[in-house]
Amino acid sequence: MHGTFNWSPLVDVVDLSPNVRDSESFRPLLLMIHFTESWDDTHALQVLKNPRPDNPKASVSCHYLVHRDGRIRILVPENRRAWHTGKSAWGTYGESDPEDGINRLNVDCMGIEVENRGDRMKDGAFQPLANLEPLTGHTLERVVALVKDICHRHHIPPENVIPHDAAAIPPGRKQDPGRGVAALWARLVEEGVALPRCPFVPFRITPEEAKEKRLLGTWNWEKERLER
Ligand SMILES: [Zn+2]
Repeated sequence: MHGTFNWSPLVDVVDLSPNVRDSESFRPLLLMIHFTESWDDTHALQVLKNPRPDNPKASVSCHYLVHRDGRIRILVPENRRAWHTGKSAWGTYGESDPEDGINRLNVDCMGIEVENRGDRMKDGAFQPLANLEPLTGHTLERVVALVKDICHRHHIPPENVIPHDAAAIPPGRKQDPGRGVAALWARLVEEGVALPRCPFVPFRITPEEAKEKRLLGTWNWEKERLER
């Protein structure tokens, strides 16, 4: 599909976010999975659609939001950049920020948010495994179907399907989807659209090391895991 708006045929709800620039055209080379880390659905949607003219850098958006009931919502068309990665590194992808030299993957990376409390506490703090909702059944399969559809249409290779916490700089800056992605990842590997990894082991490296590593290609999850 071509034109100003385009999205997956799996979409149930079209609900475009203002947090996008029409001047920024986009073609995805990577796909990032997020958990919303939110306690209620309305809040996650508000955040993804809330314009912040006072502080444009704080505005966020994502291409897709998968609800707890499996419905798929398109927020940013596939030919526009969404703002979901923050400072992140993956291989040599992204664009170096003139202020700190750290990559912004939004330039190359499509995003899927999946509703889940994740590691978020009710008071907003994070605690590992605190409130993770198991991703199973219909909702899990909807996420798998969406990932497959996007990867096939845009020819995104398995090594470029990544969890947010694995790419965030500095390591530990983001907790999502963390351990919650294990069941999903097993299915994505089974379907041939992701590589076997260990997305629930956080990196213990410095931001400097991370900056160096982005020049070395994609992370080797199993190696990282075995080395500690
Ligand atoms: Zn995220």
